[in-house]
Amino acid sequence: MGLLEVFIRSQCDLEDPCGRASSRFRSEPDYEYDFIVVGGGSAGSVVAARLSEVPHWKVLLIEAGGDEPVGAQIPSMFLNFLGSDIDWKYHTEPERNACLNSDGQKCYWPRGKVLGGTSVMNGMMYIRGDPQDYDDWEALGNPGWKFNDILPFFKQSEDNLNINEVDNNYHATGGPMPVSKFPYNPPMSYSILRGGEELGFTVQDLNGGNTTGFMIAQMTSRNGIRMSSARAFLRPARNRPNLHILLNTTVSKVLVNPVSKTAHGVEVIDQYGSSRKILVKKEVIVCGGAVNSPQILMLSGIGPVEELQRAGVRPIVNLPGVGKNLHNHVAFFMNFFIDDADTRPLNWATAMEYLLFRDGLMSGTGLSDVTAKFATRYAENPNVPDTQLYFGGYLADCAKTGQVGELTSNGTRSVQVFPALLHPKSRGYITLASADPLEHPKIYANYLTEEHDVKALVEGIRFVIRLSETPALRAYGMRLDTTPVQGCERIPYNSQEYWECAVVRNTGPENHQAGSCKMGPIRDPLAVVDHELKVHGVRGLRVVDASVMPKVTSVSAPLSQTENDKSGSENHKRNAEDLASAANDEVNVGMNLQEIMSICNESFRINFEYMEEFNNSGSLPDETDTTPMCFMRCVLEKAQVLNNGIIDKFKVTTLLWPATGDSVEVCQAEGDEEQHPCKKAYTIAKCMMIRALVDAKSKQTD
Ligand SMILES: Cc1cc2nc3c(=O)[nH]c(=O)nc-3n(C[C@H](O)[C@H](O)[C@H](O)COP(=O)(O)OP(=O)(O)OC[C@H]3O[C@@H](n4cnc5c(N)ncnc54)[C@H](O)[C@@H]3O)c2cc1C
Repeated sequence: MGLLEVFIRSQCDLEDPCGRASSRFRSEPDYEYDFIVVGGGSAGSVVAARLSEVPHWKVLLIEAGGDEPVGAQIPSMFLNFLGSDIDWKYHTEPERNACLNSDGQKCYWPRGKVLGGTSVMNGMMYIRGDPQDYDDWEALGNPGWKFNDILPFFKQSEDNLNINEVDNNYHATGGPMPVSKFPYNPPMSYSILRGGEELGFTVQDLNGGNTTGFMIAQMTSRNGIRMSSARAFLRPARNRPNLHILLNTTVSKVLVNPVSKTAHGVEVIDQYGSSRKILVKKEVIVCGGAVNSPQILMLSGIGPVEELQRAGVRPIVNLPGVGKNLHNHVAFFMNFFIDDADTRPLNWATAMEYLLFRDGLMSGTGLSDVTAKFATRYAENPNVPDTQLYFGGYLADCAKTGQVGELTSNGTRSVQVFPALLHPKSRGYITLASADPLEHPKIYANYLTEEHDVKALVEGIRFVIRLSETPALRAYGMRLDTTPVQGCERIPYNSQEYWECAVVRNTGPENHQAGSCKMGPIRDPLAVVDHELKVHGVRGLRVVDASVMPKVTSVSAPLSQTENDKSGSENHKRNAEDLASAANDEVNVGMNLQEIMSICNESFRINFEYMEEFNNSGSLPDETDTTPMCFMRCVLEKAQVLNNGIIDKFKVTTLLWPATGDSVEVCQAEGDEEQHPCKKAYTIAKCMMIRALVDAKSKQTD
């Protein structure tokens, strides 16, 4: 362990020894849970935290990786974790028109395999996308996803620590996710902003009313410390006994009943290779990210039948869209030289500045704190940016000799600018390599296979060259590194043809994968989940992560924590009624009591005879067991379908039961003086059903 590491570990706010969610870690899971969340990443951490707010819901979060390493909390170290043990280290299959200069023509896709997922190794930039992105999602048949519907969820999750510096119609304080600028921004960051202004752009909050311009971004960080999704959402839930977390455990499949098409549990493989099943009463929520979620669905028999059969998986639900519609931003890395000695940013001076004051280069990501967004002439709407600029340089990432002012090369300092295309038209796919859950799936990114994407990316390059020539950046002597890209040497430098060659050879594969479990209505042949993120054709199963985006948002944060928060909160809000409604779709007036009962039974996986038996005996096995309540609500929901309004005549309240002094739920029918404790609810529900059926039948006869 290096000396710097010793110092870092001794800092309580970095290591956070008492705040960690370790009290929730389990080596042995229970037999059954109300909800099982697969993947504790950006989305899964939020979903598990939100669901466990309901004390009587038992929630299990299963994560393939371990807990967050302490070094990842330091912003300037973010690149050090790429390719490490907490990275899935995915590579695409050989690309046809991208990454041609990379090993085997394969693009590298880092993805977090750790509690907090990719939010533990990302660039932390808090930027939401254009309102139009979400309006487009809704226009594609996904009610509830337009920007104005989503904005309250962005605000709900946000604790904006620079609220006076941003457009506060779009921001809020008090949420679980701290958002702030890094304490230190290199002077050159401000010169880039000035360069933007010299090109006629405004410097402003790009998460506000206007999303075109330049800014020093806010980050998911507080006081120069990364706030991963797990740190912001899960750690505050560490005292909830109804939340369990299994680490180093891979979900190999969701267990789906082939007849009823209902998810009833998961199969997992632990770190020693042993496998076991864990059952679920209500829902399995898959949050494995854009690569793993489609893989998990396919391993579970949900996906394109032919592909499943080819991989040796027994198909249960034919869902051709699983793994399709895969897309990602795509970029090109441009290198520039500036007139500055190439000294290493991380040295004992910067380290001490950070350790003592949480300031200096280690408290940020160097020039990566700046970003810009603008529309090229290829944008569909000139007011909606199709290109984002990222910057690199002055990153205090890793120590060599530890000598202050150590020279890293004899030359001048380099900085980088990456134009990234936000609305690519190229689409790829993911498919199973085999039925082995531990084998990486095959990824075909198909970058730059649409001519539009190549042309628009080259426009971005031309913009960057103009930016580098502004007086603000000329003052640094900023000049393009004109070393020809390997494979393009024979093409005249800086011609259209040259850059078109360069982008397919040295492609910047970006890290914002999305779309592989597309959200859309059932009429959309590629839709995998509906607008409530329920998997089409399967009960009790949702996908909640970046894979559900029908079109990737125009930002660095596909399905950020906030967007997941929307789904998590809605789950929470709608609770049992939401689940019951899954069965509603299939009810029609012609159904008999037994059929309805069987739907309800299946919905909550309660055995009908068992219910009847303990109803006859007059007592529930456990007075606090709320399952019969759910069952009754389901039955009543059916009654409502059969005889609209009947449910209104039936009230469920909680009161102190005089005989025992306990707090109990009671049911009371309209016009009925008597309040019935819920342990009799089943009888009442049954009577109501019969009445409803009689009413419905008589209406039919009329
Ligand atoms: C280098 C880099 C820089 C980035 N920069 C930014 C940025 O600045 N701003 C930004 O907003 N976004 C950035 N992103 C993108 C962003 O981090 C991701 O889009 C986002 O984290 C995806 O969230 P997710 O919930 O879909 O998946 P993830 O966060 O990847 O979560 C998936 C989780 O599921 C777990 N899992 C998968 N399969 C299984 C299984 N079978 N069993 C159990 N667990 C499983 C994984 O281990 C992981 O923890 C960056 C990404 C990278 C790689």
